[in-house]
Amino acid sequence: MSENIKNISDTASDVPFIKVENLSYSYENDGVPSEPALRDISLEIREGEYVAVLGHNGSGKSTFAKLLNMILTTDKGKIIIDGTEITSSSMTDDDMFEVRRKVGMVFQNPDNQLVATIVEEDVAFGPENLGLPRDEIRKRVYSSLDMVGMRDYSKHAPHKLSGGQKQRVAIAGIIAMRPRCIIFDESTAMLDPLGRKEVMSIIKRLNRDEGITVIQITHYMEEAAMADRVIIINDGTIAADSTPRDIFSRVDFLKSVGLEAPQGTELIWELRKDGFDLPDNCVTDEECIAALSELFEKTLKGKKDEQA
Ligand code: ADP
Ligand code: MG
Repeated sequence: MSENIKNISDTASDVPFIKVENLSYSYENDGVPSEPALRDISLEIREGEYVAVLGHNGSGKSTFAKLLNMILTTDKGKIIIDGTEITSSSMTDDDMFEVRRKVGMVFQNPDNQLVATIVEEDVAFGPENLGLPRDEIRKRVYSSLDMVGMRDYSKHAPHKLSGGQKQRVAIAGIIAMRPRCIIFDESTAMLDPLGRKEVMSIIKRLNRDEGITVIQITHYMEEAAMADRVIIINDGTIAADSTPRDIFSRVDFLKSVGLEAPQGTELIWELRKDGFDLPDNCVTDEECIAALSELFEKTLKGKKDEQA
C-alpha cells in the first residue's frame, strides 16, 4: 500500500465531529429561490478525518463549505458541529464566532484573505479577536508561522510574498485560532506547482501530526488521492462517498459526473479497454508505473522467448 493511502482508522476517532442531515440550500434571486444548490445531503465526518470533496463547477461544493462555516445558514436540514446544532435560529453572535473558530476556512484567492500590512499582524488578527492575553497571542503567532515555515517572514509585507507564501500565511492565521477542523476551498487552485506542493504538505501535516480534521475541496485528482475519503458532489447531491482507491478506479463513473481519473489511472483504463492485462485498482503514480513496468517486462520476456 502506498504511504499516501493510509488506513482511515489511523487517526480518525469514531465520534462524528460534523453531522449533516437532510441539508438543502437554495440561493435567492430578487427574493425568488433559484434551483437548489444542495439537495437533501446527509453525511458524517469524524474528528481527525481527511476528506477530499470533488465535483464539477457549480455542483455545490462551496455552498456546502459555507454552510459548515456559517457564512450561509438555512433552516432546511440540520448541521451539528461538535454536538451543537448550528442551523437553529437561536444562535447568538458568540455561538457563531465559536463555530468559525472551530471550523476554519481557507479560500481560493490568497489576496482576499490577508488583512494586515505585516505578516505577524495578519496572523495575530484572529487570536486578538478571541481576546487572548498578549503573551499567548505572540506564542500562537510564532508557533503558527513555524508550522507553515514562514517564521522568517514575520516582519515582511504580505503583498510582496508569492501566492504559495501568502496562502501559508493565511493558513497560519487560521491555525492560530486552534481550530479542530479546516476547510480548504480550492486553496491550491491559484498557486504555481511549487506553491501547491508546499500547501499540500502543510495540509497533510496538519491532519497527521496535529489531528486537525481536514475537508479539502479540490479539482486536482492527485490531491484528492492523499485523502482518507473522497466525497463527490454532483448537482447538489452526494454522488459517491468512498476511499480514493475505490472512487478513482471507477473511471466510467467519474466521466459520468464530469470528472477525470488521475492521469495514470486513466491511461491504464484505456489500455485495459484495448485488452492489455493490467490491474484495475492503480491510483497513485507509483502504482501505475509499477503496473506498466511489469507489463512491459512480461511483454519483453514473451518476445525473447518467441525468438529463442
Ligand atoms: P461549486 O463550488 O461546486 O463550483 P457553488 O456551491 O459555488 O458550486 O454553486 C452551486 C450552485 O449555486 C451553482 O449553480 C451556482 O451558480 C449557484 N450559486 C453559487 N453562489 C451563488 C450566489 N451567491 N447567488 C446565486 N447562486 C449562486
Ligand atoms: Mg466553489
